[in-house]
Amino acid sequence: MNIAVIGAGHVGLVTAACFASKGHMVWCIDNDKRKIDLARQGKASFFEPGLSELIRKVVKENKLHFEYTIEKGISNAVVVFIAVGTPTKKDGRAELCYVEKVAEEIALSLRSYKLIVEKSTVPASTGQWIKKIINTYKTKEAEFDIASNPEFLKEGNALIDSLSPDRIVIGTETDRAKKVMAQLYLDFDAPKIFTSIESAELIKHASNSFLAMKISFINAVADICESVGGDINEVADGMGYDRRIGREFLQAGLGWGGSCFGKDLDAFYNLAEQYHSSFDLLQEVKYINEIRAGQFVEKIKKELWTLEGKQIGILGLSFKPGTDDVRDAVSFKIISLLQNENVFIKWYDPQADYPLLGTKSKNPYDAAKGSHCLCIVTEWDEFRTLDLVKIKSLMKLPIIIDGRNMFHPEDVRKHGFTYVSMGRK
Ligand code: NAD
Repeated sequence: MNIAVIGAGHVGLVTAACFASKGHMVWCIDNDKRKIDLARQGKASFFEPGLSELIRKVVKENKLHFEYTIEKGISNAVVVFIAVGTPTKKDGRAELCYVEKVAEEIALSLRSYKLIVEKSTVPASTGQWIKKIINTYKTKEAEFDIASNPEFLKEGNALIDSLSPDRIVIGTETDRAKKVMAQLYLDFDAPKIFTSIESAELIKHASNSFLAMKISFINAVADICESVGGDINEVADGMGYDRRIGREFLQAGLGWGGSCFGKDLDAFYNLAEQYHSSFDLLQEVKYINEIRAGQFVEKIKKELWTLEGKQIGILGLSFKPGTDDVRDAVSFKIISLLQNENVFIKWYDPQADYPLLGTKSKNPYDAAKGSHCLCIVTEWDEFRTLDLVKIKSLMKLPIIIDGRNMFHPEDVRKHGFTYVSMGRK
């Protein structure tokens, strides 16, 4: 099929490359010229394992093309995905102006039947608004349908998630749209859930809110473990064996970050409020997450007493391993709290960079060198195999505060470290 994907970001570029790898003919469009120029050279503008390689392969096969404008990019397409950002507005609602702008541009370029599909995460009823916008602005009598096909990929594992998803949710309101979507995903071996557009929109917000709730839940339990002397990993294992609960997303630590969970919780909470439904649970989920950085800094203070003038090594800047995405990463909150106390920060991340924080250390050992304390903030695999003997010899004080429970406490302590983790002794 001929497909257009509007937005060459974390979702759009992956979607475009994956559909192209399944044999579809894809045009990917972004109004950020830099992203399109990089993509044309076979490079993603962000780090995602395997993505640049896949882009180069499908571009070479002539299956993936890049355009700067919607008018050019959608002219041959039957299916048009909208994959632009939907960030949070000041009042907590989803900012839908990018979606609206794209809908207007699609309308102005509409010449033949197109199925316009929401890939971006949007509040329920956005599909109906897109329909209204297109009917308002279209200049030709071309037919169109709207569908919702929310994306569930995880950054760092995006290609696998896109090519082999747990499920494919497809919300439509006409038989024609349903048939086109079924044809598009024919070659994907995953359960396909056909719903109304509103249900599909709600499935995405409800899923992300539920996952965020699981993380906050286990973090609240971790705090209780610390008070009464339990071990959160044992507790999570014991809970996780219950198939109704499951072990995934019961990893205690510094909570979630990134561009999705926080904004989707806010948007879902606001949607409920708009319709006078009470969903205060989501506020509590968010609150538990927001206090993690402060709690972590308290752990540091407990070991170092005063912070003024001390040096702390931070391992991990990205909001999760496998990506260089630092949007809403907890590392920034921790670093900012420490800098308020005049701490000198050394930091290292295998992929992320952020020059405003000063030069990145060359490696974890460089970040540890001369530090009074080493903090693990993102659970990159690379940190699991750190040479602890070497780390200890480099540090000013042998203290590790592990925000992601990466190590067995005994393994670290036997090297002479003071080791503090989350919800464990
Ligand atoms: P992103 O910021 O990485 O990418 C969005 C892209 O859209 C940008 O490159 C931007 O330049 C482009 N864009 C904006 N307006 C445009 C226009 N008028 N014409 C052409 N291009 C335009 O965002 P993302 O992380 O890919 O997220 C996109 C959507 O997918 C959001 O709604 C997000 O919630 C959702 N989502 C994200 C993830 C994730 O892990 N990042 C996962 C699932 C769903």
